[in-house]
Amino acid sequence: MTISGEWMEDNGLVGVKSSCLHCPVTCGRDVEVEGKGRVKGPEYETLALMGSNLEIGDLKKVSEWNYHADDMGMDTISLGASLSFAMELHERGMLDVPLDFGDPAGVTEMILDIAHRRGLGDDLADGTRRMSEKHGGHDFAMHVKGLELSAYDPQNLKLKADIPVLQQNLACAINSMVLCIFTTYGMIPNAVHNMDPSSFTYKAISKALENSGPLMRKAMAIKGKPMLWFEKWLTYITGTTFSGGHLQEIGERIFNLERLYNLREGLSAADDTLPPRILNEPTFPGMTSGHPLDQLLPRYYKNRGWDANGVPTAKTLDRLQLHV
Ligand code: SF4
Repeated sequence: MTISGEWMEDNGLVGVKSSCLHCPVTCGRDVEVEGKGRVKGPEYETLALMGSNLEIGDLKKVSEWNYHADDMGMDTISLGASLSFAMELHERGMLDVPLDFGDPAGVTEMILDIAHRRGLGDDLADGTRRMSEKHGGHDFAMHVKGLELSAYDPQNLKLKADIPVLQQNLACAINSMVLCIFTTYGMIPNAVHNMDPSSFTYKAISKALENSGPLMRKAMAIKGKPMLWFEKWLTYITGTTFSGGHLQEIGERIFNLERLYNLREGLSAADDTLPPRILNEPTFPGMTSGHPLDQLLPRYYKNRGWDANGVPTAKTLDRLQLHV
């Protein structure tokens, strides 16, 4: 509560909103940090991973840690998740470290130790996966392929296996345009943004979306006229027509290239998994099982044009003109 956006608005923010160059979203918020003056404030992920995740509801402390992380070039998602993993190891008697859930004592010092790879900070600097390999705790190590999870629960945010393909392709295309992914929220009509998630209409739209994957994939593949502003922007700048279908193909090519790179570097289908805690433990009251990844993954591979081992088929590579 004391680290919510509303709380920050009323108690923690200073000055006006800030933004990256020319961005109309202006998602930046400044705060005051003792001894440092006005600095960039913590964003959602920082508040979640370094606040709620550590059971610490102290906006001043989270702002200070956010400042140090920025100053030292550390990602607050991996940092917060690694700190919480160390706290859980300590709680279970598996690691002698002066860090406890709900207690800000020692966190600032540990952040600086991580940055300088001093003492136990050297272990935390290696991240959650390597810490679990050294100190144990595989069952509660929250990472995927060695990368710590951001503050979203995949158990409650799953769709059928078609929609993520579209979203991933779009994200790849937009990132390659050097655009911020946050701007994609602008594609969703305001009416949907403002809808009550518990309302019948919202639930009906969600259900329809959940079941419209194959249809949407067909619709999104059409290479027609530019409709959304990403497509229009690219078309006006280059003089070449780009539609949603073009963006999907460009994104798909990038995604497959990344997949080929990862496979070459040693990743395999065995790495396409989630932490045991997400696969096996229900997180919300009333939830009876974990994540149905085993049902979704084969269909995801099929939709991607990959074989049962998650390797892009020759046909897919040919279609995308990826002759590597
Ligand atoms: S939405 Fe993205 S580009 Fe815009 S201000 Fe925020 S981070 Fe920067």
